[in-house]
Amino acid sequence: MLTNKEIEKAYNKIKKEWSKNLKKKGVKLPRLKSGEKFSKDALVLVYLYKNINEVVSKNELTSFVRKFYNDTNDVQQARHLANGKGWNVISGTRHDQEAELRGLGSGDYMLVDLEQVHPNFAHGRRQSRLKGDDEWESIKKHYNYRCATCGSREGEANLHYPSSTTYLQQGHMDPNKPLDSNNTIPQCEKCNRPDRNYFVYNKKGRVIKISDPRFILKSNKDIQIKALQFLIEQFPGFNEIHIKNKS
Ligand SMILES: [Zn+2]
Repeated sequence: MLTNKEIEKAYNKIKKEWSKNLKKKGVKLPRLKSGEKFSKDALVLVYLYKNINEVVSKNELTSFVRKFYNDTNDVQQARHLANGKGWNVISGTRHDQEAELRGLGSGDYMLVDLEQVHPNFAHGRRQSRLKGDDEWESIKKHYNYRCATCGSREGEANLHYPSSTTYLQQGHMDPNKPLDSNNTIPQCEKCNRPDRNYFVYNKKGRVIKISDPRFILKSNKDIQIKALQFLIEQFPGFNEIHIKNKS
């Protein structure tokens, strides 16, 4: 159990790193205190920081926060720290790309570091290169206001998640390229999830390539070995030693 002193000390360390790395990237530091008490955001951030790079369950966070706020049932702060404030807190529930690779399950969180911004936050802030709302509107119109990938129609129930209303977002066709008119397809929020960034999509919203080679780590070992053999055949000069040095 952390003492008040330890919490303050940890918070000050976080603050120091934040000033150095994250402030300029637009990440928001929660206030330490809310009135007399530690703020819930600060408590959750400190707890995650004390377990940096380790999996922390929502239950753990809830029971920690409950020591200060005994009416707490369901801690949402870890999600807010990532989505709203930009901290690199990955979530198994949200199927963050990094979370899937690290094997986080539903309800699990992890503060990855105090250097990088959460990938979604960076995405959201990345300037769309579309020429204003008109261009976005004409792209949506071209698709008859449907998600390019699943066909759900804007304002109507999502075809696969009938309880949620479709809201079209600007999806990258190629996540490694800027979001301009040649690289934008409308996608519903269910299709435009973080794990979609492993792939390159065509205009019809279908996956045509891998954009992040780490996706291969999700395959079975025998497939990974086949991929390795295949690539070695493709690049004969690229010998084992070279691969070792590169990785
Ligand atoms: Zn969709």
